[in-house]
Amino acid sequence: MYDGKHEPMIPKKLFEACQKVMADRSRPKKPSQKEYPYRNMLVCGECGCTITSETQKGHNYYRCTKKRDKKCSQKYIREEVLAEEVANELQKVSLSSAWAEWMLTELNKEEAEAAQSGAVFAQNLKDKIKELEGKLDLLLDAHLDGTISREEYTAKKEKIINEKSELSEKSKDFERNGNHWLEPAKQFILAAQQAKIIALQENPVAGRDFLKRIGSNRVLLSQKVAIEPKKSWQILYNLPAEARSAEAINSQHTIWLRGRGSNPQPTG
Ligand SMILES: [Zn+2]
Repeated sequence: MYDGKHEPMIPKKLFEACQKVMADRSRPKKPSQKEYPYRNMLVCGECGCTITSETQKGHNYYRCTKKRDKKCSQKYIREEVLAEEVANELQKVSLSSAWAEWMLTELNKEEAEAAQSGAVFAQNLKDKIKELEGKLDLLLDAHLDGTISREEYTAKKEKIINEKSELSEKSKDFERNGNHWLEPAKQFILAAQQAKIIALQENPVAGRDFLKRIGSNRVLLSQKVAIEPKKSWQILYNLPAEARSAEAINSQHTIWLRGRGSNPQPTG
């Protein structure tokens, strides 16, 4: 270490704050925060209080805190039962690998088609812009020749330049907006496939984290978990289970092709 005269790289206050965070992290956790994966992530469907947890005879249980309503009649639920409930909810938004593969194939086809028609569209714009540039040259020649007056030249030039900037704007918009919905759609499908995998695993932490990701207003009522699916998960969540089965692919797949905004509706 040198006792240099230069300013310390990390200001003292920031350094102290970091030390404090590190100290907090290394402090052992309170016993109440031990492994209760579903603690404080659900509310009681009867009284709205938080669902807490405790251990009795070596088993983890979850129950309503009944802080606001002592008369709440909800009973304990064992962690294993709750884990099954969470898995059930995950199943509702999950896609089998057969479905996921089919959807990804469709999206890839669509992407290829979109890329092709997009390339044609972009080329058309470029051609038109070039044409206008050619017109500007001719116009200038005509003016220099004395074929058209300065006023005529200025008026026409302005018109062409406006047209040109409109086309350039369109071209930029196209590059910006293109088919950027495809990538998030793919990510979504992969996530839904992952939900299936997590639902089938016995990993309470992964299950809990996924449940938080897909749903808000998570409620426990009469030993049943219910969630309000977040926007992108609603379609899957509200589908009957049969619609997601591998056999349903051929008859049901049009469901997935709806609601793609301004994109053309496939007919198959
Ligand atoms: Zn309650």
